[in-house]
Amino acid sequence: MLQNTHAFVLKINPKGETSSIVHCFSQDFGKLILIAKGAKTAKSQFKGLLEPFSLLNIHFNEKKNRAYQFLSQAEYINPFRHLKGQPEAILYGSIILEILYKVQEYQADKTLFDLIKAVFTAIDNGVPAMLAHWYFIMHYLQIEGLPLNTDACYHCGAPLTSAYFLPKLGYIYCDGCRSDFSLEWELDMPTMSLLKRLSQMAPEDLPETIYDNLNSTLINRLLWNTLATRFDNCRSLQSVTILRKVL
Ligand SMILES: [Zn+2]
Repeated sequence: MLQNTHAFVLKINPKGETSSIVHCFSQDFGKLILIAKGAKTAKSQFKGLLEPFSLLNIHFNEKKNRAYQFLSQAEYINPFRHLKGQPEAILYGSIILEILYKVQEYQADKTLFDLIKAVFTAIDNGVPAMLAHWYFIMHYLQIEGLPLNTDACYHCGAPLTSAYFLPKLGYIYCDGCRSDFSLEWELDMPTMSLLKRLSQMAPEDLPETIYDNLNSTLINRLLWNTLATRFDNCRSLQSVTILRKVL
């Protein structure tokens, strides 16, 4: 049956001398593995289209109960050229692609699809990639039903007046509850208010500059750590290892 959907390219692997295996996250089928025959030849109809981050309109001949499908046609919906032209956007954006590649199930999730689209569009329009990737992680945790609660202590439920992140657990505790643990990271007010704002704001409202006085290293570590505690496959993300070396 001939199918058609919109899909983000997550990863491309070579297949033989001339073909490619394209891992995608699509609007109507969730994650898809597509074989693009002849994609590496000079005359391929897919030339220039199959790149990580690209949002494509794809056509494939669906055979159910097969692990992969054959890509028959593809057109650009959004190449995200500005995003692809910025090294920092590629670094932070790769974390998003790797999470989807490693964690996401093979089923459709329209809310998640729309989140990816909104975050890549924001980066493409000039929102700092680091901030947009924080936004993605906060909302991805919500979609997966494993949010990082910034209003109340995870342990006792009391409203947070002072806040401590427990890296071993991946949750935020109050001053009273954190004393049982030997390792905690104190979160200052700018950090807490940023996390709160990110979890509530619409992606269109992401600002074009990162607020002052932010400990961005701490926020990176906190969110990567939260992912690692929630998803086994996020314990060693290659994209995070690369970013740590660059920073
Ligand atoms: Zn507490």
